[in-house]
Amino acid sequence: MENFRFKALVELNNRQPVQFEGTDKAVSSYFAENVFDRDKMRKYLTPEAFEAVVEAIDEGTKINRKFADQIASGMKSWAMERGVTHYTHWFHPLNESTAEKHDSFFELTKSGGCIEKFRGELLIQQEPDASSFPSGGLRNTFEARGYTAWDPSSPAFIHDKTLCIPTVFVSFTGDALDFKAPLLKSLAALDKAATCVAQYFDRDVRHVLSTVGLEQEYFVVDEALYHVRPDLMMTGRTLMGHEAARNQQLEDHYFGTIPSRVAAFMREFEEEAYRLGIPLKTRHNEVAPNQYECAPNFEEGNLAVDHNLLLMSVMKNVAIKHKLRILFHEKPYMNVNGSGKHCNWSMMSDKGVNLLSPGKTPRNNLQFLTFFICTIRAVYEYGGLLMASITNLSNYQRLGGSEAPPSIMSVFIGETLQKALNSLEEKIPNKKMTPDEKTELKLDIVGKIPEIMPDTTDRNRTSPFAFSGNRFEFRAVGSGSNCSAPLLILNTAVAQQLTLFKTETDKLIDKNVKKDEAILQVLRSFIVKSKDILFDGNSYAEEWRKEAARRGLSVIDSITSAFKTYLEPKSIALLSESGVLSKKELESRYEIKNETFLKKLQIESRVLGDLAINHIIPTAIQYQNVLIANVRGLKELFGDKAGDMIVPQMLALEKMSRHIKDINIKVYQMIDERKKANATENIIERAEEYFKNVLPYLDDIRYHIDKLEMIVDDEFWPMPKYRELLFSH
Ligand code: ADP
Ligand code: MG
Repeated sequence: MENFRFKALVELNNRQPVQFEGTDKAVSSYFAENVFDRDKMRKYLTPEAFEAVVEAIDEGTKINRKFADQIASGMKSWAMERGVTHYTHWFHPLNESTAEKHDSFFELTKSGGCIEKFRGELLIQQEPDASSFPSGGLRNTFEARGYTAWDPSSPAFIHDKTLCIPTVFVSFTGDALDFKAPLLKSLAALDKAATCVAQYFDRDVRHVLSTVGLEQEYFVVDEALYHVRPDLMMTGRTLMGHEAARNQQLEDHYFGTIPSRVAAFMREFEEEAYRLGIPLKTRHNEVAPNQYECAPNFEEGNLAVDHNLLLMSVMKNVAIKHKLRILFHEKPYMNVNGSGKHCNWSMMSDKGVNLLSPGKTPRNNLQFLTFFICTIRAVYEYGGLLMASITNLSNYQRLGGSEAPPSIMSVFIGETLQKALNSLEEKIPNKKMTPDEKTELKLDIVGKIPEIMPDTTDRNRTSPFAFSGNRFEFRAVGSGSNCSAPLLILNTAVAQQLTLFKTETDKLIDKNVKKDEAILQVLRSFIVKSKDILFDGNSYAEEWRKEAARRGLSVIDSITSAFKTYLEPKSIALLSESGVLSKKELESRYEIKNETFLKKLQIESRVLGDLAINHIIPTAIQYQNVLIANVRGLKELFGDKAGDMIVPQMLALEKMSRHIKDINIKVYQMIDERKKANATENIIERAEEYFKNVLPYLDDIRYHIDKLEMIVDDEFWPMPKYRELLFSH
């Protein structure tokens, strides 16, 4: 029998590294050259059309038909000068990837000739036949139409000789079928609410942006090895594989020298990313072997998400050129660090002030405290919903182990700020303050919050939501996901709390309480209300799980029950009252989350069953036959004296038989459970049955397979082992 693993290892050993010369030019000389940004717009558009786009971007105004034609034509000229023949509306359907359908500029004319055309109406709206995207019941087949509509706030770009136009994706009835539409609405809600509050401190503030920086973690694996791991190919993770003798315990990978083959891959995708205007800033080895991270400079929220999704697709393609495969799965290897996508989030006024940055003056600090405390309360109120938004099968496998935060929502703010909040709570009286009390507060607390350097904040890696000096970092977000889902909830929840804060403060001001005093009193009440979410201890400790439950925080122990938070009246009220997602849209997202989970688990379970029965058991039996022949031979040669000699073989045979038997029984039990669940009509109930009755089999079966891996002759083992997957590049 041919051993595919050995063939792959030979291929790997003979591999000539793919060279990447790249350009010698400074990044600044070609940065964003493939983006139709303001500079290019100015050049390719009439001054009126240019003004119209800028107004649409900055103020959200609509662009009329005449200008749309001019903009489309300008975009086309720019793109065609760069050898582009096709254009596409680029959107983010609810399956956590991006979608595109390419059309040619080329058109036949009535007179039999042909020209290249791109009309405004095609720029603004299209109707892709997109009936196969998840809609969670929002579209019946008879009205399966979906529309994509241009989002001028994210600039068009050229990718693979195609002009890509970022769009939202909505149904015939106007319901959102994507992540971008509600994200944009949440950003508008945050802008409105935060601007009103920022005006307490600076009357001239007109807008507040959300700033987002997404750190992307990932693994790479050689393509030859990848191709002989059906589990990696089909599910993105290893469903079996005994731990290697060494993994990350020597702590020698993090920030180590990047292997030259991987470095060539990084340089190539970075160069492509720069041309697309993605401001990549850092790259380094991550904690696990063959795990890496890249992070851009932060950008406005909508753009940051678009850039992250585009980056992921560029990375996938460039990896293939380098005969590597990239794994964005949150937990590709058991007992090894998983991958997250730290979602750094803050708010910035149009004056360029980071509203979550303390330290310059007491006034500044009061503003900082206001935005800081309102965010904490937002996370306190909607922690469960935030957690639900990042829960899926793969992230559930990651959370709670190997440095990943647990699936319990809490906020970490560090000692200095914790002390400041405690003093505010103690020292602000619930009545009119005396002048002395006021001075003391201003000088001692508000005035003394120092500028906190991001580097001095405690790196509590087990906290899901941590303040890191001038921003919050949502660390529980998974590496493979579209961050719009948590961001739209965070933006909307913070907007709600800021509005509430403003209402209550204004009420006090109306009662002749001085503005600063009113602000402090309301902040105090917010601290009292939400302080239970603050936690700076070890989030892994079992006591914390109990304590968190006692405090009423969101503690997730089941995927499907986490999803249910989407349907709680409080969640529906938050999102529908703000106009970000209607009840119907939220219900559809709930259904899609269940359905996606169920399908992914079904695939994992099928792949595992197939591998167990068709690859692993036959391999074990083959090795048993070798041992049996050996035992027979020894007995033949040594007769009765063979007794001691055959003991190890007999033991191995016995152990293998037990594991083979267990695997066999469990695989068929798992199949039975799938069948039973599949007969359940209701998709939500089916997902629950899969969670309860199918999921446990995966680890159970794997246990026996991993034991066999330790017994069977290495030469027989058909699939690359952890040491090979993790340590070769
Ligand atoms: P670390 O590993 O220490 O968290 P990184 O440099 O890897 O730091 O990533 C930090 C991320 O946070 C970067 O993407 C950075 O641009 C982003 N960031 C910094 N300041 C802000 C801010 N005010 N708002 C949003 N993101 C920010
Ligand atoms: Mg970070």
